[in-house]
Amino acid sequence: MLGLMQSHQLLISSLIEFAERHHGEGEVVSRRVEGDIHRYTYKDVATRARQVANALDDLKLGFSDRVATLAWNGYRHLELYFGVSGSGRVLHTLNPRLHPDQIAWIANHAEDTVLCFDMSFLPIVKAIHSRCTTVKHFVALCDADKLPADSGIPGLVSYEDWIGAQSSHYKWPSFDENSASSMCYTSGTTGHPKAALYSHRSTMLHALSGALPDSLCMSARDSVLPVVPMFHVNAWGLPYSAAMTGAKLVFPGPAMDGKSIFELIESEKVTFAAGVPTVWQMMLSHMQAGGLRFSSLKRTVIGGSACPPAMITAFNDVYGVEVLHAWGMTEMSPLGTVCTLKNKHLPMTSEEKMKVRLKQGRGIFGVDMKIIDGDGHELPWDGKAYGDLLVKGPWIISEYFKGEGGSPLVDGWFPTGDVATIDPDGYMQITDRSKDVIKSGGEWISSIDVENIAMAHPAVAMAACIGMKHPKWDERPIIAVMKKPGFDLTREELLKFYEGKTAKFQIPDDVVFVDAIPLGGTGKMQKTKLRELLKDYKLPGA
Ligand code: AMP
Repeated sequence: MLGLMQSHQLLISSLIEFAERHHGEGEVVSRRVEGDIHRYTYKDVATRARQVANALDDLKLGFSDRVATLAWNGYRHLELYFGVSGSGRVLHTLNPRLHPDQIAWIANHAEDTVLCFDMSFLPIVKAIHSRCTTVKHFVALCDADKLPADSGIPGLVSYEDWIGAQSSHYKWPSFDENSASSMCYTSGTTGHPKAALYSHRSTMLHALSGALPDSLCMSARDSVLPVVPMFHVNAWGLPYSAAMTGAKLVFPGPAMDGKSIFELIESEKVTFAAGVPTVWQMMLSHMQAGGLRFSSLKRTVIGGSACPPAMITAFNDVYGVEVLHAWGMTEMSPLGTVCTLKNKHLPMTSEEKMKVRLKQGRGIFGVDMKIIDGDGHELPWDGKAYGDLLVKGPWIISEYFKGEGGSPLVDGWFPTGDVATIDPDGYMQITDRSKDVIKSGGEWISSIDVENIAMAHPAVAMAACIGMKHPKWDERPIIAVMKKPGFDLTREELLKFYEGKTAKFQIPDDVVFVDAIPLGGTGKMQKTKLRELLKDYKLPGA
């Protein structure tokens, strides 16, 4: 017997329809590439998203055709999120921080037909447009008077002209919720980047689960600042969850420095902000230097790489902001776990709570996890056994776009490439990326643990631990350190700082001071680049 409920497809267009009807006056505020602050409402987003859909129809784009963006977090990008996917096309968010050759390769692989770009990325588009063989239409996300006369880009139009000519009436089509809605490339460890291809259904379910109280806890009372880029896994789904809940959205545009982010949090009364640790590091440094305080920020979700304990302490203890440590992947839309406390943790001391907060958190509804040993046997959830972490759920990929790399699944589970423990309460803790774990004399050393201790030193701005070949121990850890400006720190001082904080064999053998730690397109430390930089390095005594 079937249930007697209405059958509606879960489609992204329903989010913006809902936001317009129920939160029409809800604000969307953006710092623009032009430098000024732009302010409008969900009603305006919906109106202009319909114009985008009409403009795409006018170009005779087919169902599932790819529309690419090279853009910061901003209102025009948001309109494309809804207009492109809502009308049945696939939004392809290109990462502008990649090398232009890589961007061209990705655009060709995705077979993008339209490329919409912020003016900051005009030089990239100028350099690659002739190589993007499938792109027929170039749209600059600006007013007509900002369009360069001599760009050399064929048929370049301004976004405002392009959609301005269109009617704001449009009936969103209904189609199979399993249809592709957006895509994001991720650079694996080997070979070319591969794309995760999200569907309307996966995006909607992810947005629903992501908004829950024990996930990101989004509501119509929130003012949400996604510092995480809209070109990185749909800004962790925040634009969708915000439309679903009517939360105010605040976009930082290109100004990602600590001062600009802090000012935006204050001026727009942001209650909830999301980003990778490197961004928050810059903001905390700015605040510490100026003795600044938050007046509205209540919580911040930190993920993308391990959040150093010193950062959790600074937010919690110094600024009274709750840190939600979260973990996920491009292949997981991206949310997998969020570290929110359970009732049993509330009476604990702050030190005990800290131990919980340091973990990457509990699986959110929809994500199942397990850890396995080298023979594929499932390991216990005892908080001690560590093994390869596998996941499954309705917003986790079944295969990459165009079947690249073959089926990634193992008995229906997606291997994350992370090594983790899971405790009896279901809290998962990443020990390392499987390729970053250091094996010393048969013992595993977590590079994250080694980095976390260094990051707690007041003179350290950023630290990356890698393993170096060792004739006796197989590998030994060293720590590459970028100092905070104006601070002095010697190798001996830092090594002394490790004493008593970790087992002796986990103390790095050496400290290498560097001007900068190489960061990837999404702000994560690039250990492969660091290894290349230090290829001539010799371990002391090795
Ligand atoms: P990406 O697909 O670029 O988002 O990268 C996903 C990878 O980032 C994961 O497999 C983890 O290795 C790492 N990662 C994400 N969040 C965290 C976190 N909270 N702690 C440690 N590593 C993380």
